[in-house]
Amino acid sequence: MSLDAPVSTVAAWLAEAGRVVALTGAGISTDSGIPDFRGPRGVWTRDPGAARMFTLDAYVGDPEVRRAAWRNRRAHAAWTAEPNAGHAALVEIERAGRLHAIVTQNIDGLHQKAGSSPDRVIEIHGTLFAVECLGCADRTPMSEALDRVAAGEEDPPCTRCGGILKAATISFGQPLDAATLRRAAEATTAADVLLAVGTSLTVHPAAGLVEYAARAGARVVIVNAAPTPYDGIADAVLRRPIGEVLPVLAGAARR
Ligand code: ZN
Repeated sequence: MSLDAPVSTVAAWLAEAGRVVALTGAGISTDSGIPDFRGPRGVWTRDPGAARMFTLDAYVGDPEVRRAAWRNRRAHAAWTAEPNAGHAALVEIERAGRLHAIVTQNIDGLHQKAGSSPDRVIEIHGTLFAVECLGCADRTPMSEALDRVAAGEEDPPCTRCGGILKAATISFGQPLDAATLRRAAEATTAADVLLAVGTSLTVHPAAGLVEYAARAGARVVIVNAAPTPYDGIADAVLRRPIGEVLPVLAGAARR
């Protein structure tokens, strides 16, 4: 392990990597204006009550929580956010033929909007761009539900079964999708370089994926503003702004 290893050392690893896997968290999207949940200016830090909207029991049991959640979804920064230099750098690494997968905790769709291949983006916490019925599991575009909200339905029910609709994101108290998790685990164990970017690595399963990768022999690189519980097993920890570091690494990958 080398704390704050020079970016050039990591760049050299990227230049010879065959399978780079990125594990991304909220920190890669804050430059795009998507607020972090747990950071000092995060949504839950400023308004602990907001967490109720993201708790399955409260959502199912309280219509007012659902109405608030739909207002929140309509106003979400993701609809107008643009990808930033960090997202673009991962697209470059893919175009250089070195990106195996992006495992993301983000629900904002910015990797795909930046140009990353959708089939390489594994969204372990789901996506804001789809809606799922909690009754019949019917999956529909978020835009359709938001149109109904805009037309006056404060809590639009499923058009097939009348059940409760929810964004296709993972709420507190809701299990993660097993198939998605399996893909994430397979991708990380296949990595020869794991880039953990903008994630505090405090939430499982994302945190555990770092261990998988390390055990499988990947070089683990952590790019995050604050210390993480996995800094000790990382081969390099870069505490530099993501928008500065990733473009440099992408440049090395192109060589
Ligand atoms: Zn339904």
